[in-house]
Amino acid sequence: MKIFNTLTRTKEEFKPIEPGKVRMYVCGPTVYNFIHIGNARPMIVFDTVRRYFEYCGYEVNYVSNFTDVDDKIIKKANEEGVSSEEISERYIAECKKDMADLNVRPATTHPQATQEIDGMIDMIQTLMDKGYAYKVSDGTVYYRTRKFEGYGKLSHRDIDEQEAGHRTIGVVGSEKEDDFDFVLWKPKKDGEPYWDCPWCQGRPGWHIECSVMSKKYLGDQIDIHAGGEDLIFPHHENEIAQSEAANGVPFATYWMHNGFLNIDNKKMSKSLGNFFTVREIGEKYDLAVLRFFMLQAHYRSPLNFSAELMEAAKNGLDRIITAGKNLKYIAENSTVADMTSEEQAIYDNRIEFVDKFKAAMDDDFNTADASSAIFELVKYCNQNVNENSSRALAQGLYNQLNELCDVLGIILAQEEESLDEQVEALIQERQQARKDKNFARADEIRDELTAMGIVLEDTREGVKWHRA
Ligand code: AMP
Ligand code: ZN
Repeated sequence: MKIFNTLTRTKEEFKPIEPGKVRMYVCGPTVYNFIHIGNARPMIVFDTVRRYFEYCGYEVNYVSNFTDVDDKIIKKANEEGVSSEEISERYIAECKKDMADLNVRPATTHPQATQEIDGMIDMIQTLMDKGYAYKVSDGTVYYRTRKFEGYGKLSHRDIDEQEAGHRTIGVVGSEKEDDFDFVLWKPKKDGEPYWDCPWCQGRPGWHIECSVMSKKYLGDQIDIHAGGEDLIFPHHENEIAQSEAANGVPFATYWMHNGFLNIDNKKMSKSLGNFFTVREIGEKYDLAVLRFFMLQAHYRSPLNFSAELMEAAKNGLDRIITAGKNLKYIAENSTVADMTSEEQAIYDNRIEFVDKFKAAMDDDFNTADASSAIFELVKYCNQNVNENSSRALAQGLYNQLNELCDVLGIILAQEEESLDEQVEALIQERQQARKDKNFARADEIRDELTAMGIVLEDTREGVKWHRA
């Protein structure tokens, strides 16, 4: 399996630190609003990377944080007259709903910055002890960037040839030693959340949060660190400087970055105002379509959002799901049980498409080509399975299609609620209706159950049921 590593700008063979295991950290969103579909891109892309590792037999420890202390969160809290915590908890819950609708699996751990402050204070202290950090008179602690030899290795910048974005040296009153030094800890302002620490009451800088959460949940050295390409500099460059200086070992072996989701070829972002939230798109489309749309491009390529491409994704997804339904129908209803020898050959030949799928995913997670392999398998199934086929062939091909779809997070068939679950739910509802003295609804439910062939018995131990 090959991964494009931003650090070396080449595709490299994946070699895990610990055989059979992957330790992976993905920078998560700052939670002050509903996420937009640009934020959804890394979630979908790296969830798919995780799924493919698992498909290949790896055990993945997947950590993705929520940044829940930030200027934007504080601003929103002040606008609404509520606490920062209320804002961040609200939008973490909303983000988790969106992730579930996008079939993005919950991370092994979703740490929150505000729960990890002690670890941040510890790491900052270590950096101070080693001479990589210094405090100025107002209590701000800075990272001494030039002391870290490898600074610039991820973003391929030579610090001496760079103009720092924000000139402070020579500015009267500034005690920063160098323009490139960045904040590890900053003093509180009125109305802001703060924590006590040895330097001043205040809060951490953004970069130290990820270094610390990654260390705590994955250890000093990890296999993959990932996020959108806007994070390469300064966020990830600074994370490397902090983690490697503090821990004394290389931080992540592979750095993966997704390209931007654009609108009219401009990055979708909150600040430009050119965004759609996942929620908005969810009103028009099943979010499975959004997920599939994202995977139709290579994750490192820019992707332009458009109604045409969403329609194309919708049609493609429909084609796959329809093929799945047909296979399932035949698998459940054909009068022939076993495969003929001719069918066995058809079944065995599916491997051609599986191999194509794997070759695409092994080549730096080329989900666009992997989707093409799925379409070829769909076509193959449509051509080779019909109502005269055996149940075994239809089921075998269904299972194969389902397995590949699952790697991309495509749900081929929604699990149907079992009859027992439906009956139990209706009985519960009937009990509640009776408690509420809504006897009309209670009778209606009894009739509904009778129509389903279910007989109710009111006993002393409660309601019992059996099939008529
Ligand atoms: P933020 O909440 O801005 O820190 O972003 C959370 C994640 O979404 C980061 O990994 C960003 O790089 C990523 N991201 C933000 N906007 C876009 C976009 N338009 N396209 C792709 N990724 C994005
Ligand atoms: Zn981060």
